[in-house]
This record gives sequence, C-alpha cells and structure tokens, in this order.
Amino acid sequence: MDKQKIKLNKKVIVNSLLTVLKVEKISPSFIRVQFSCDKLFDINPLWICPHLKLLFPDPLTGKIAFPKLDDNNKIAIDDKLRQLVRSYSVREFDSVTNQIFVDFAIHDTGLASVWSQKAKVGDQIGLISIASKLQFTDDCLVLMGDISAVPAICYTLEHLPKKQKAFAFIEVNHSNDMVSLPDNKNVAVRWFVQNSNAPHQLVDAVMSTNLLEHDKLLFWGGMERSLAQSIRQAVKNKYANLSPDAFQITNYWREGLAEGEFKHRE
Ligand SMILES: Cc1cc2nc3c(=O)[nH]c(=O)nc-3n(C[C@H](O)[C@H](O)[C@H](O)COP(=O)(O)OP(=O)(O)OC[C@H]3O[C@@H](n4cnc5c(N)ncnc54)[C@H](O)[C@@H]3O)c2cc1C
Repeated sequence: MDKQKIKLNKKVIVNSLLTVLKVEKISPSFIRVQFSCDKLFDINPLWICPHLKLLFPDPLTGKIAFPKLDDNNKIAIDDKLRQLVRSYSVREFDSVTNQIFVDFAIHDTGLASVWSQKAKVGDQIGLISIASKLQFTDDCLVLMGDISAVPAICYTLEHLPKKQKAFAFIEVNHSNDMVSLPDNKNVAVRWFVQNSNAPHQLVDAVMSTNLLEHDKLLFWGGMERSLAQSIRQAVKNKYANLSPDAFQITNYWREGLAEGEFKHRE
C-alpha cells in the first residue's frame, strides 16, 4: 500500500483497487458493499455529496484496466472505458481502516447493479477518482433526491457542520428504504414512498415548503433525468433571484439508458 496519503482537491484520480470485505442487503432497494482500498486517501470533511468513479472488470477478460492520464493530466476516456465506469456516492468512509462503503440501488439490468447482486468477499473493482463539486458554506442546503441519491444525502446529513441548516426531500421505492438519521434541530427531512398516484409529490413538497425566509439557499439534487428536469425548472422559476450556482441538480440516471449514454447536466 502507498504510504503517502493522497490529498484530495476537487477531483483526484486515485486509480486504486477496491476489494470487497462485506456485502449486505440493507433494505429492499439497497445492497451495501464494504471495500478495502489499496491506496490511502482522506475525504475532505467539508465536501457535500462526494462521489466516486467506479471501474468494473471487462466482462470478456475479467481484467480491470485503469485509464491513463493524457498530456493535460486528465483521464483519457474512450468508448470502452466509458462503458465500464459508473458513478456512485460515498456512503461512509473510515479513514482509520481506509475502508469505503457504497450503497448500490438494485434494478434489473445494468453493469453495476448486476455486479452488486453477485458480489462476494474478495471480488475487486477499480476506483478511478473521488470528487465533489461543493463544500459546506453558510448557505441553507436544500437536498432533493430519489432512491439513487439516498446514499449521498444521508452521508451529507450525517456530516453536517454544527449550525448548518438543511432541508431534505427524498423519494424512496419502499417504506423500508427510509434511513433513520441523527436528530438535528437544524435539519428538516421529509421522506416519500414512490406512488404512481402521486407522481409529482417530490416537486410539490419542495415547492410548497416556505424557504424564502432563508436568504442564502443552495439547491442540490440527484435523481432520474425527467424528475430532475421538473425540479430544476420549478425551483429556478420560483427562486429566480438566486444565482445559477445556487442550483446544482444532476441527472443521476436516465430511464432506458446506461450511464455514459446521457448527460448528467442539461
Ligand atoms: C454523482 C453520482 C452519484 C451517484 N451515487 C449513487 C449511489 O450512491 N447509489 C446508487 O444506487 N446510484 C448512484 N448513482 C446513480 C447510478 O450511477 C446510476 O443508477 C447508474 O446508471 C447505475 O449503473 P448500472 O450499471 O447499474 O446501470 P446502467 O447500465 O447505467 O443502466 C442500465 C439500465 O438501468 C436503468 N437504471 C439505472 N439506474 C437505475 C435506478 N437507480 N433505478 C432504476 N433503473 C435504473 C437505466 O435507465 C438503464 O435502463 C449516482 C449517480 C451520479 C451521477
């Protein structure tokens, strides 16, 4: 293992091997995988919703081929690499043991989802990079997400600095996917269970909550693209006086398409 800890700025290429230590079905929708990591690194405690680029083994060879850096020190991404990389959030990080926990939402098809359902102790995948676009400031955070953002939102709420104000609006697939979070008087969390009779419940809840008394707001979202589009448009219209940076809403996945086949922001 490298003795020197890798220092993480906004985004850092780690190119390290993760080895499965434990696999646990933690709820109807989630499989938690605990990994050891063959390189030492820290995660900035001020990062909001830090995320990982995971590299899965080539299905034909079973090999993990880490990307090389180009002349500008950026990852050279070709189509083959794109097909084997998926974005996931840090659910938990233990800096003492250098172990990382990832919660995989299960769905029928998909490289990562299928891998997680078959994962066993000793299996390996790659970790290309760790990144976060945002750090905690004194802005009031408004976190919004579907099942795919539960890990990112829970991690962030569990690491909130004292006095940081936050609202969270989370839609899960099953009532047992809800997570109990630490009591914090500065935080208001609302959970919803997906309901075909109430397809707009998440947007409606965000829109009907009075956030105007908070002068500095930061809207963060991670969810399926069409839901992201509705929420993005609704909050931008209602809070039109805020700067574009106050809206950080990402398409975490897109119905019918694999990661790499759609844009995360649009
Ligand atoms: C920054 C970031 C952080 C993320 N963190 C997490 C995380 O911690 N946990 C997590 O579970 N997801 C997370 N996601 C979402 C995850 O990257 C996508 O769900 C990804 O598509 C899963 O890859 P896959 O190989 O399983 O499916 P893909 O091969 O990408 O897609 C195959 C099929 O599955 C469908 N699909 C993909 N995701 C879902 C889903 N959640 N529910 C139903 N159908 C789906 C697609 O529409 C497609 O039809 C994150 C995304 C981003 C951008």
